[in-house]
Amino acid sequence: MRFPLALTAKIARHIIKHKMLRTPRFAMVLQLEPLHTCNLTCTGCGRIREYSTSLKDMMSLEDCLGSATECDAPMVSICGGEPLIYPKIEELVDGLLQQGRIVYICTNGMFMRKKMRDYLASIYSPNLEPKLAKLVEDKLVTEKEAETIRKGKSDGRPVIHPSKWQYWNVHVDGLEYTHDLIVEREGVFKECVEAIKMAKFLGYQVATNTTVYKETEVKEIEQMFEYFSSLEVDGHTISPGYEYDAAKKDMVKRLNKQPEDFFLTRKMTREKFAKIQEWGQRFTIFGTPVYQEFLAGKRDLTCTAWAIPTRNVKGWKAPCYLMTDGHYPKYQEMLDTVDWTKYGVVGGVARDPRCENCMVHCGYDPSGALGTNYQRGDNWKNIKYNFGAKPQPYREGAKVNAFNGMTIGKGHLAEAKAAINSPRAAMNGAQAAFSRKAEPQDHDHSHAEGGGGCGSGDTTQRDELLAKIKKDT
Ligand code: SF4
Ligand code: SF4
Repeated sequence: MRFPLALTAKIARHIIKHKMLRTPRFAMVLQLEPLHTCNLTCTGCGRIREYSTSLKDMMSLEDCLGSATECDAPMVSICGGEPLIYPKIEELVDGLLQQGRIVYICTNGMFMRKKMRDYLASIYSPNLEPKLAKLVEDKLVTEKEAETIRKGKSDGRPVIHPSKWQYWNVHVDGLEYTHDLIVEREGVFKECVEAIKMAKFLGYQVATNTTVYKETEVKEIEQMFEYFSSLEVDGHTISPGYEYDAAKKDMVKRLNKQPEDFFLTRKMTREKFAKIQEWGQRFTIFGTPVYQEFLAGKRDLTCTAWAIPTRNVKGWKAPCYLMTDGHYPKYQEMLDTVDWTKYGVVGGVARDPRCENCMVHCGYDPSGALGTNYQRGDNWKNIKYNFGAKPQPYREGAKVNAFNGMTIGKGHLAEAKAAINSPRAAMNGAQAAFSRKAEPQDHDHSHAEGGGGCGSGDTTQRDELLAKIKKDT
């Protein structure tokens, strides 16, 4: 089967129950944002910008668990910010699993290996030594970390352990060069790959989560799927980038980029996703075949943003994960109060101008699952897709040139330094601008929490550098 039977059955039961009860609107996936703090500052991220004044706030554990009970979605996607920074992430995952939810931890990957080392410490016994030796041999764990694992774990706190009900959902927006450019930090792709390898070795389920921007090449998306398929990743979420107001403003102010150079229009989305159905056959793409047809421009769907509600420090965010017209204290209050007919694109006409270019999965994927805009044969398509054979790992994908950035000395900082060292830049004094500060400490990712600027989100040096280069060329 393409997806685990227990998970598919759980979601199907939830839909059937609400269809029989004739519930007009109900939640399928809860996007839970316990905090908005992040160790990265990705270019297209609306979160860290929209909530820049409340980055230090976080939801209590009780509030998080209560939100899941309140909307009763079978799936909970813990996002943020970076959820692995949330101090009670282990208790949260554990509590959600105890509630019987399917849990996705949407992470940038930088702290995953630390969490998995905690898991290893919690189960340590001499029987674990062969596994530990292999992890050390593959450089996924250092000797020093192995020693710490051997000491065991006795703080009484839960750990994030492998479970068929839980996925690591790792943010990867391309191969090394592109991904590191989008997350505005070198070495992140490499760390993601190492974390994914370690997770698969330990028996976790792993998915990747990709946002496609204007600059993303279709061929590269395909190669990325091929590469991660060779690592036996269990599934992929892929969605077009949405032009967040906050991200657009940041782009103009900080990077001096025009939003239209970065975000996709509807027409561009359809071009980029023209092959999504073919990818759906080759790789385990999450998302209904109906949503895939929509992305490929073969049909229209009506937005059902209420089915993937977002809960964060300010309340239930309306109308959707992307746009904010208000926050509500209760999910039901949000459902009852918001005028849902004001949003989405119907018959090619945007009901709200902000929806015009939106085709993102959190607005339209549930429409495919819930039978909105039903066409004859849709149910059969969904059944066939979910219950069809799981695509086999694409072994040839191991040959993809995934490390095409900083690993081979072609990272952005290397390019920046080269530009600065060019005779023309030297004449303009750019070298002095660079040498004023210490070298960036972007390369120590084996201890992500302590390494360099990771955790600070400080891109000042890089921004200054880029601004200087722009001026000098
Ligand atoms: S990893 Fe990037 S996209 Fe995700 S919350 Fe952090 S800055 Fe935003
Ligand atoms: S169309 Fe997109 S932006 Fe508009 S309400 Fe739906 S999900 Fe939100």
